[in-house]
Amino acid sequence: LPCSIRSFSEAAGVPVGKVLGTLMQMGVADININSQLDLESAELIATAMDLTIELKETETLENSLIMELENREDSEDSLIPRAPIVTFLGHVDHGKTSLLDYLIGINVVSGEAGGITQHIRAYEVEKDGRSVTFVDTPGHEAFTEMRARGANVTDIAVLVVAADDGIMPQTEEAISHAKAAEVPIVVALNKIDLEGVDSNRVLTQLTEHQLTPSEWGGDVEVVRTSATKGIGMDELLETLLTIAELNEYKANPDREAIGVCLESEQQGDRGVVAKLVVQNGTLRVGDIVVCGSTYGRIRAMTNTLTGSSMMEAGPSTPVNVMGFDQAPGAGERFHVLDDISKAREIAETREDASSQEMLSGVTTKVSFENFQEMLEDGRLGQNEDKVKLNLIIRADVKGSLEAIQKELTKLEHPEVEIKVLQQSVGGVSLADVTLASASNAVIAAFNVIPDEKARALADERNVEIRRYNVIYKLTDEIKLMIEGRLKPEE
Ligand code: GDP
Repeated sequence: LPCSIRSFSEAAGVPVGKVLGTLMQMGVADININSQLDLESAELIATAMDLTIELKETETLENSLIMELENREDSEDSLIPRAPIVTFLGHVDHGKTSLLDYLIGINVVSGEAGGITQHIRAYEVEKDGRSVTFVDTPGHEAFTEMRARGANVTDIAVLVVAADDGIMPQTEEAISHAKAAEVPIVVALNKIDLEGVDSNRVLTQLTEHQLTPSEWGGDVEVVRTSATKGIGMDELLETLLTIAELNEYKANPDREAIGVCLESEQQGDRGVVAKLVVQNGTLRVGDIVVCGSTYGRIRAMTNTLTGSSMMEAGPSTPVNVMGFDQAPGAGERFHVLDDISKAREIAETREDASSQEMLSGVTTKVSFENFQEMLEDGRLGQNEDKVKLNLIIRADVKGSLEAIQKELTKLEHPEVEIKVLQQSVGGVSLADVTLASASNAVIAAFNVIPDEKARALADERNVEIRRYNVIYKLTDEIKLMIEGRLKPEE
């Protein structure tokens, strides 16, 4: 596995048409006999068709080498502290770009067309011999998109809130995305230099969003900053370093590097330049790297900030890398191998797989219908004995949100936890779908509709958007679903 529907039907001795039919009943569209099935899909169909399937691992380099590299455990004594990787999130114009510029000592905001951050920037900033790596994504969508692709680069999220505006709709979204990523949140209460700002008002808003400031007895650090006047910058860095110390982020510099590609481009005569973040190990000039369906030998590396050349990059270091044959995609993981022909083989296998029509439909996305099934085979992350049903709720008015919340609290169940990742007023957005896809959530839409882009992405990712116009319909459905879980009385 993956295997095509054709080979699946041959192996199972079931007519192809029947396999296709079963898949269509399961809601999978756009498939043909050459579509690829992944392991989980194959298992789902097998269950649906009452077949037992036996797994024969085909020894692909992909699963043997890459899995070994991904799963290799580093011994406790090989681990040393690494810099925290920090991402800025927040409402547009609240000062993300300005804060990062100030911290790295440059000024691009003023020169930027329209002030829109186009690219993912990643820089390492040093303070008293200790480093923080900042990754600036153009929005929380990009942040969650990375997560959706399995590229969890962020250790700490800095939520930027302008003191004059306070919490805005995108701030709320950013909070949900950061919470869903389960990373510590630090608030930069920015633009504190503006006259007449009332920081208590913002602290109250934060508290209302379950981010209680530490000065009010909660666990969220709020740092008052001014990116234009340079206020609170040291304190912000200090706070991030303290959180890093508390969380003991560690890595092993003495192993082959693994990490993530943030972005890449073709740069004239320099060829492909890929911006990578090393998550573990040390990346060196001369290393053979495979990243998605591209590969190559590293010809040169440069510092992302100064452009000066580097021979090696250790854990948490962002670096521009030259030597790939093609531009790797944002969010792809990279691995170092010892043999260029193996790297080529893996890259080519992946390219073949992705050029074929991928069967994304029957993968893991949760829906109300399959929740029960997913519960049973433990695919929904059963920690603390409770299974989580992740929900994102969108509604036309605040009153409906409150009413839904109230109804949901009545649905206590010993084995299922209903977790609302995000609830807000307005139509279903692209960001909601990305969040749902990264967090295996179902989106409930109350008297609102998804916009076209959101709908298209939801189709592509097989994210379920359920529309309602009466509240009890939603709660009834959830109730039925979790009650199905109840064990028979003894
Ligand atoms: P982003 O969209 O969150 O990246 O916000 P920017 O960094 O582009 O900032 C938006 C605007 O707010 C720019 O005109 C900045 O000069 C201004 N700005 C950013 N930080 C501050 C601050 O601390 N104080 C004041 N007064 N203005 C700021």
